[in-house]
Amino acid sequence: MEASALALHRLFDTLLTAYGPRHWWPAPTVPAMMAGAILVQNTAWSGASQAVERLLAAGLLDSWPQLLATPEETLWALIRPAGFFRVKGERLKALARFLIDSGGDHDALFRLETPALRAALLGVHGVGKETADSILCYAADRPIFVVDAYTKRIFSRLGWCDDAVEYDALQRWVMDRFSGDAQRYGELHALLVEHAKLHCRTRPRCDGCPLLFCLRHPRMIP
Ligand code: SF4
Repeated sequence: MEASALALHRLFDTLLTAYGPRHWWPAPTVPAMMAGAILVQNTAWSGASQAVERLLAAGLLDSWPQLLATPEETLWALIRPAGFFRVKGERLKALARFLIDSGGDHDALFRLETPALRAALLGVHGVGKETADSILCYAADRPIFVVDAYTKRIFSRLGWCDDAVEYDALQRWVMDRFSGDAQRYGELHALLVEHAKLHCRTRPRCDGCPLLFCLRHPRMIP
């Protein structure tokens, strides 16, 4: 992979100037954040957000035992806006069971060191690297960069990596060049998501893109 720490910092500064702080993760409580990290899998945040709101209104994010005891059909109806509601219902229950077994809530769990906490989260049914790292960064306040498909798309178009790059390799590459706390890593991820939604879409909208140094930018093409 190419590009320097300087280029990565330039990308961060440019996106922050263009879009402003993103104030992520958009959730009122830690349980809402953790549930949102499951519900947003393979769907847009708008649907996941609706599902989180419905869980909050039903009081199911006040008590993991209550969520676990909720009949499947009731849970499915509440989270239907997030899509894949049967799968996500099962995953939410697995998360609830894990938190209950870990001491009752996230406070007990978050006393673990980051590697142990990451390993524990990855052991939960339906929690992959992106979901685990989102919880680590945005809920547990750990300095870790969340990689997603948007990151791969933007960085590959900038010529910094192959679009088939492995999750761990890209995460290590970023963290070796861009140091910071959880807030800074969280901001970088959120800015990349915003950029992928506004400009670097599946079919890129390069006109007006703030990344003037991208070789695909209209100003770079003779
Ligand atoms: S110029 Fe186009 S391809 Fe390059 S980052 Fe901007 S939107 Fe993406």
